[in-house]
Amino acid sequence: MGFYAGKRRGLMRARPGKCRIITGGPGILVAALSLASAVVSPASALIAWQPQNPQIATPTPEPEPVYWATVDRIMEEAFERSEVMEVASWLTDVFGPRNSKSSGYIAASEWARQKLDDYGLSEARLEPFEFAAGWDNKYTSVHMTSPQYSPFIAYPAPWSAGTNGKIRAPVKYVNFETFATEADLDPYRGQLEDFIILISPIQAVPTHFQFKPTSFTDEELDAMAAIPIPSPESEEPRERRPRAGRLSREQIYDFVFAEGALAVVRPDGSNGLGMVDAAVNGYSMERRMWEADAPASITEVIIAAEHYNRMMRILEKDIPVEMELEIRVEFPADDPYDYNVIAEIPGTDLAHEIVIIGAHLQSEPVGTGAIDDGAGVAATMEAARILMAIGAQPRRTIRVGLWGGHEMGLYGNRSHVRQNFADPVTREYKADYDNLSAYFNLDIGTGKVRGVSIMGSEVLRSILLEWMKPLRGLGMTHLFLNGMEHEAYKEVGLLGFYFEQDRKAIDDMNAHTNMDLYDRLVPEDLIQNAVVMATFAYHAAMRDEKLPRAVPRPW
Ligand SMILES: [Zn+2]
Repeated sequence: MGFYAGKRRGLMRARPGKCRIITGGPGILVAALSLASAVVSPASALIAWQPQNPQIATPTPEPEPVYWATVDRIMEEAFERSEVMEVASWLTDVFGPRNSKSSGYIAASEWARQKLDDYGLSEARLEPFEFAAGWDNKYTSVHMTSPQYSPFIAYPAPWSAGTNGKIRAPVKYVNFETFATEADLDPYRGQLEDFIILISPIQAVPTHFQFKPTSFTDEELDAMAAIPIPSPESEEPRERRPRAGRLSREQIYDFVFAEGALAVVRPDGSNGLGMVDAAVNGYSMERRMWEADAPASITEVIIAAEHYNRMMRILEKDIPVEMELEIRVEFPADDPYDYNVIAEIPGTDLAHEIVIIGAHLQSEPVGTGAIDDGAGVAATMEAARILMAIGAQPRRTIRVGLWGGHEMGLYGNRSHVRQNFADPVTREYKADYDNLSAYFNLDIGTGKVRGVSIMGSEVLRSILLEWMKPLRGLGMTHLFLNGMEHEAYKEVGLLGFYFEQDRKAIDDMNAHTNMDLYDRLVPEDLIQNAVVMATFAYHAAMRDEKLPRAVPRPW
């Protein structure tokens, strides 16, 4: 991207006397040398270097400070007196799952607010954002009743309608994937009334004889660190391909229910082992079922692939299958708002400037939202607790944000950004746009933090490389040229760091499933996450300047 190239050249000009021994892992060393070779070698030449025109020369910047003693105290508090797993248990076991406006979310948000208040943070509060209708699964019972009885592992899809009592009905297989045009529906007219419809072919299920390694190797991290910034063309938003004359998924669903079907049943994607991924998707996503003017809901059940496949193989033998379903759900909509949890550690001489740490409190409505993202919330709250416990007095205000409405499109966090920093829809900058230093986000489940993206900015590399030094022994070893950023901040030109973590479980199968439970969490990983979060927040809050942004103002 042209901008980055120009920025790098500018950096080289502005910091000619900068010389630092780079002690990172091989990836850091290679990446740093390749970009900075013009200034770091040979050392003797640097010592002798003098500005050619002293009038315009920039003074050599002070080295980036590292608060080693504070990090020692952070680590001691984190490892000796950790509360992170206790917080995680409350968030998951007691309140999970925490879908938007569900009783679990409401209880979790009030509990977290009180907990942050108890830790001594200031102005612990619930911050409203517009969100019309939540969804709460109150009761689900799914069985095969013929030709044999079997209870099934199954969940209603998010924002599914209930069943209006217990229903028992024959099952019919109607492969939605074969519907391309209106004419394809004709053979089914008058054929679906009072049936439960299985909508997909038999699902391939992995055998799971081998599990993946759970931590990145140094070689994998080196390769990730070297991934270049994507070209502007590849960043263009992908247009949804118009399917002229072809039926949309919504049209197919609408047809089936207009024909009098009682419910649709689909298999879990490809997890197997009894897992059910019931993320917000498909019909509810297309119709934005949480909005005030959303159409009436349909009844959709997602079932473990093995159980789904069993019914399909029986049907293939021309033996009738009967199911019994009862689903009771609520769509809480009395209050037009949903809520983030916000609290602050007040700054001192730079209190008007802000560093944010956060994670999303809302979870998918199955499991208990442990790795996604109870882990991030627990580690963020623990980082705040640790900073209070050691009596940290950050110069900037450190704000904690636990976000609602996440899985449907970052509603809570986007609302916070739009109210306080900038709104990309109206193209307005808000009062604190110039006061935000950075946002640090945790959302890749359990797994140690291994690094973070510099978003193509070599200035950020030089700063973060220093902050990371006390954390290398805990496994945070790499800076990535490019990598995940938090979209709510990125889209308005702000820094939204997304820590890269070992992908224990989350890449495999547990996120968004019924088995995303407390037992997936690894205590030592969450302790490390809290140490990283507290250390980065503290350093960002202490340096003389806000972190330099990676891109210019977007408008
Ligand atoms: Zn998440």
